[in-house]
Amino acid sequence: MKPTRPSEKRLTGQPVSPGIAIGQLHEATEAELVISFQKPDPANIPGELTRLDDAVTRSRNQLQKLKSRLTALPKDSQAEIAPLLDVYLHMLGSTRLLRGIKSRVKAGEQGVEAATQAEAEAQAEAILAQHGTDKASRQRRADEVREVARRLIRNLTLQPFRSFDLLPQGSVLAAHDLRPAEAALIQPTHFAGIVTAEGGLDGHTAVMLRALGLPAVLGASGVLEKATVGSLVIVDGDSGEVILNPSRASLDAARKKLSAQTRARRALSRFQHLPAQTRCGMQVELQANLELPFELPLIAASGARGIGLLRSEFMFMNRDLAPDEETQTRIYRDIVEAMDGDPVTIRLLDWGSDKDVEALARFVPDNPEPNPALGMRGIRLLLKHEALLETQLAAILRAAASGPVRIMVPMVSVAREITETREAMRRVWRRLKRRKNTKLPEKMPPLGIMVETPAAALAAPLLARHADFFAIGTNDLTMYTLAADRALPADMKLYDPLEPAVLRLIHLTVSFAAAAGIPVSVCGELASRPAATPLLLGLGIRQLSMQGNSVPRVKQVIRASSLQACEHLANQALAAPDAEAVREILAKAQET
Ligand code: PEP
Ligand code: MG
Repeated sequence: MKPTRPSEKRLTGQPVSPGIAIGQLHEATEAELVISFQKPDPANIPGELTRLDDAVTRSRNQLQKLKSRLTALPKDSQAEIAPLLDVYLHMLGSTRLLRGIKSRVKAGEQGVEAATQAEAEAQAEAILAQHGTDKASRQRRADEVREVARRLIRNLTLQPFRSFDLLPQGSVLAAHDLRPAEAALIQPTHFAGIVTAEGGLDGHTAVMLRALGLPAVLGASGVLEKATVGSLVIVDGDSGEVILNPSRASLDAARKKLSAQTRARRALSRFQHLPAQTRCGMQVELQANLELPFELPLIAASGARGIGLLRSEFMFMNRDLAPDEETQTRIYRDIVEAMDGDPVTIRLLDWGSDKDVEALARFVPDNPEPNPALGMRGIRLLLKHEALLETQLAAILRAAASGPVRIMVPMVSVAREITETREAMRRVWRRLKRRKNTKLPEKMPPLGIMVETPAAALAAPLLARHADFFAIGTNDLTMYTLAADRALPADMKLYDPLEPAVLRLIHLTVSFAAAAGIPVSVCGELASRPAATPLLLGLGIRQLSMQGNSVPRVKQVIRASSLQACEHLANQALAAPDAEAVREILAKAQET
């Protein structure tokens, strides 16, 4: 008898990275823990105890973060998971588990990882052997102890929570959710595409996945429950559709779409050497955003003239300690040299909020912040940790000897943040000047700011007195203007950069920059969307920095546009009642 084919199921999520992926679905699961059982040198015992404290802090922060994300889940899932996270958090306080691990380490027989595993195992066995409680609840408590120990050991050994490379080549990676730091670990050539159950359009994970150039759909709720591991799936990164067990007709349609896309991409490559200018002859500067160094060749091939936003976070991800000055200098210098005379705008570390950087766990406040997006992030964190800021500034200043560099300050909301950063830059400059054999550029690079808080946009005339340039970060500007998280699912219709309130802030910033005579660009995700290009031109933007693979499409739109029509469009959008109406205005303009 012929086996029955499982029936096709369709889900919809957020189309975060374009393209079609066809492949077998495989879920990213955790790799086995590797633990050293070597007896530690007695002199190292205090160091082992400090490592344990650090791992506890890191684990607590991770759990708090998971807890803060629970609100996005259905009520019954929240009710199930929240108490569990509380139990884990409690166990990471002053409990028998931690006391037991510490006394094993102090006894000097085991290193901290082996002590953690041995103590957790002993306690789990003791729980299972107890009398008087039912078996299921004993098992649950034993599992909880083991789970906390696993998390501690992963944080002690810095082993990733999930290993992606073990999944079959060419498969579609499926996960409940992905952290930006995890996304940075994905080898783009290893997978056909990505689908997750959670995640939003402009969250940092989405930004990373677009940088990888992999078709991806986030927020396809229920995908893991409905799919069978190893079964065929189509991920449509343009429409957000995910087709499980596709029928022959669906497969044929997806393959047709895939070859049409390949042809269109080839046709677009002819724009690489053409100027980015409108039909009426107005020049637009197109640059690329860089999230991960492997994008460099792609940027060179895209036709972008320089890097308008180098997100330096990648250097701090997936490592134990923050990179030192030499390491950072080498990385920046390689990038500046690869750009061969085209400018590179290096943004100072923008850690915090949904950007989770392990190497900086020690800089996190002890008590997790109630609302990290409104707390210690970006320049606020750097100004509190002088060494972190000065090390990065020193590395950038040294790399600036190899080509044109600009320095950009993230998350500015008040003028003091720019003036203090400039003072730090001058201090570091003087120190480097005194240092022997240190090459520096002739003069200090321009220091500009991200305009990504409503405060920065509204106070732009004041900030322009201290900043050499502005770059509008539409992702955070949208989030903070609308008080809606950028990783929220689109169907909630809250986070939307096309909301007229956001467009007005962009327009205002452009006018203030023009009055102050300083350059202004847009480097948020809106700059990568060809449909929004005429709108941004109409709002007065002449510099765009975007995902490398969007450059040809955006250039094509610019070359077909006229300034007069763009300005008319922008005026209509500014007067529109909401984002939906703006979208309609853009769609209508595209048709004509
Ligand atoms: C932005 O907020 O628009 C931006 C470009 O910065 P990031 O996405 O890295 O927060
Ligand atoms: Mg930002």
